[in-house]
Amino acid sequence: MEEWTVEVHHSKTKKNKPKTDQLEFGRLFTDHMFIMDYSEPVGWHDPRIVPYEPLTIDPSAMTFHYGQSVFEGLKAYYTPEGDIQLFRPDKNLQRLNRSNDRLCIPPIDEAFVLDAIKQLVFLDREWIPTSDGTSLYIRPFIISTEPFIGVAPSHQYKLIVILSPVGAYYKEGINPVKIAVENQYVRAVKGGTGEAKTGGNYAASLKAQELCAQKGFTQVLWLDGVEKKYIEEVGSMNVFFKVNGEVITPELNGSILEGVTRNSVIQLLKHWDIPVIEKKISLDELHEAYVNGTLEEAFGTGTAAVISPIGQLSWDDKDLFINGGKTGKVAKSLYETLTGIQYGREHDPFGWV
Ligand code: PMP
Repeated sequence: MEEWTVEVHHSKTKKNKPKTDQLEFGRLFTDHMFIMDYSEPVGWHDPRIVPYEPLTIDPSAMTFHYGQSVFEGLKAYYTPEGDIQLFRPDKNLQRLNRSNDRLCIPPIDEAFVLDAIKQLVFLDREWIPTSDGTSLYIRPFIISTEPFIGVAPSHQYKLIVILSPVGAYYKEGINPVKIAVENQYVRAVKGGTGEAKTGGNYAASLKAQELCAQKGFTQVLWLDGVEKKYIEEVGSMNVFFKVNGEVITPELNGSILEGVTRNSVIQLLKHWDIPVIEKKISLDELHEAYVNGTLEEAFGTGTAAVISPIGQLSWDDKDLFINGGKTGKVAKSLYETLTGIQYGREHDPFGWV
């Protein structure tokens, strides 16, 4: 595949670009998109950049019926020097292939697709917002397109990459959120699809999110699907706690999505000689730490917010106010260093950009 080139069809019209202070997440898309098809026996073929426009897809296309689809999410940033940077895109494409494997979708050539993404971002570079905290969100996804409503892996697919300018996640600085522990619904189970980035996981999470929002919480804390005892993730982020000077995060167990931010946070903490441990963490153990006064910080990690401090964690008749509802020191340092590297304000000792 490497020797293939991406055919480029330029858009004849250019859409108006939004003002950066009016950017909402995921509502506006740039002038072009990347598409590549899969069919048998040729495999992936016909890579092209074309004007962004609606697709024509058969109503019987398998993706509409049984959810055989996967996606990714990463960002492009402008540095103060005017260079464009991607943050660990290789990790996202590796994860896309792991999701592909779980969903019986044929693997992609990661290096080739990364190159295609770079071409697409460069072509639509005028869409990368430049003001503080803004970026261009990159959404690669694969859908199954064979016109057949039998339950089986499709023999035809489309890989598409679309781009969306996004505003600053924190307009008034990084802010702790209120989280409700979800003890009725579960996001994923061991042996299921939790460690793959596939639409069904997100569809299954909506109900709990809707109910917690009605009660005034920002997101839910997901527990394991068997005993509802162990902590898994927070909303669509990985979760970390600082207990008695040590940072802990749930170990990967087959139902947790392996976040690129999670991996970066673990590496950074090790680099700073802050002890970090991946292990099973029960809600009881966390409550005990709170009662003892050793629960020092809690925060979520993900591409969208980077670091999202948890100021309050509630379930049953319990309300834990963590670090007095304020952003902790570790969360703040992680946020500043990670965004510093992503936006090219700080030296990147890891080769992440
Ligand atoms: N968990 C879930 C369920 C997610 O959707 C995401 C966002 N991709 C994450 C964790 C965080 O992953 P990342 O750091 O790669 O954005």
